[in-house]
Amino acid sequence: MKRASLHTLGCRLNQAETAVLTARLRRDGYRIVEFGELTDLLVVNTCSVTEEAERTCRYVIRKTLKHSPDAFVAVTGCYAQTGVQELRTIPGIDLIVGNQFKGDLPSFLPAPHSLKKQPDPEVLHTRTIDREDFILPEYGDPDSTRALLKIQDGCNVMCSFCLIPFARGRERSRLQDDVIQEAEILVAGGYRELVLTGVNIGQYRQDALDLVGLIARLERIEGLERIRISSIEPTTITNTLIDRMASSSKLCPYLHIPLQSGDDSILSSMNRPYSVKEFTLLIQRAMAAIPHLGLGTDIMVGFPGETEEAFEHTLDIARALPFSYFHVFTYSQRPGTAGAKLPNQVPAAVARSRAKTLTELSRLKRLAFAERYIGSILSVLFESGHLDGFSSGTTANFLRVNVPSSLDLTNQLKDVQITGTSDRWALGKLTPERHPLRIVPML
Ligand code: SF4
Repeated sequence: MKRASLHTLGCRLNQAETAVLTARLRRDGYRIVEFGELTDLLVVNTCSVTEEAERTCRYVIRKTLKHSPDAFVAVTGCYAQTGVQELRTIPGIDLIVGNQFKGDLPSFLPAPHSLKKQPDPEVLHTRTIDREDFILPEYGDPDSTRALLKIQDGCNVMCSFCLIPFARGRERSRLQDDVIQEAEILVAGGYRELVLTGVNIGQYRQDALDLVGLIARLERIEGLERIRISSIEPTTITNTLIDRMASSSKLCPYLHIPLQSGDDSILSSMNRPYSVKEFTLLIQRAMAAIPHLGLGTDIMVGFPGETEEAFEHTLDIARALPFSYFHVFTYSQRPGTAGAKLPNQVPAAVARSRAKTLTELSRLKRLAFAERYIGSILSVLFESGHLDGFSSGTTANFLRVNVPSSLDLTNQLKDVQITGTSDRWALGKLTPERHPLRIVPML
């Protein structure tokens, strides 16, 4: 049996798509091996959000060809879409598949027994990507306790630092029946939490059904315990969604809402469609309706024109708003984006020090969020594996919790009393089922 190794860079959507490719290659008779093991086929699902991501893609190929020099190398994903000319020049690549054909990549591979290196890569690429709503050619083989469910693709926003609209095309939604069918299969397969992924999922629209309507259909699936929204743009969060999250017994009280900057002039040159005030009002509305909301965000530092004063504005809002953590990104100039043409590029050392300051603040925010729950009883969905005698899992509002346990708690929902914190997770101890002290039914 031929071996296949898949490596994914970038976002949850890429991970969800790799799960689909994995299922298909398994069905085509490949044995899936861990990345780094000897292989006959390497599939790299790439990212082009930053220059670093593209560099890592090239490194992954070189590394694999060192131990498996005859491996057939197929490259797909956003770098294959936006960097096809560059990838053509990278030694060792045999097939380049743009995002239009990503889902069908296995159909473009030679038969397993006739995999062999090519003198030049075969290229399947279109400049633009179809706009139609879609179904998935295959359902995924998730490799984590929280199954990723792709519901949407593409983005029309055109933020001036972002390549994704060029890599993934215009907004489009997955047919609702196709989403429900895969969700039912995943739940029948034992998954208790589904994470809705896409690029701009708040723009989900299928016939008259929007994101809240889709969630209502998912909530009716027996055995599904949690529905989590991965990341959602601030301008797409409606009062209806907030109300649904406040009253639902399945929709997790968790929102990851990219802020990017706390300075209005930077937001405007980023082409982000909201002001700091509007973002703040949204957060206040959400927190008022959902007191235990887990709130994450993305913040970018070093965007052209970001003065010390503008950065101070970002620090102020990051401190003031009740974030439970934030992901910090350093601006990476992307060819073809409006940002790449902007003057006043920020020196790398300055951007790095700003990123360091924000990362430290995020650590303190995460700690403060965990400390809020010391003494409380929370429901935790445990993931596979043990770390130094600890089992790990997350609450519905995305607090990571570790408990000392020798039991295999994989994919189990357990009540845990929070006893302490570290700056990366809360510590707890298992308590008897359905403990009366548990905080609100959903947590
Ligand atoms: S909303 Fe902006 S940052 Fe997000 S994918 Fe669209 S263009 Fe990129």
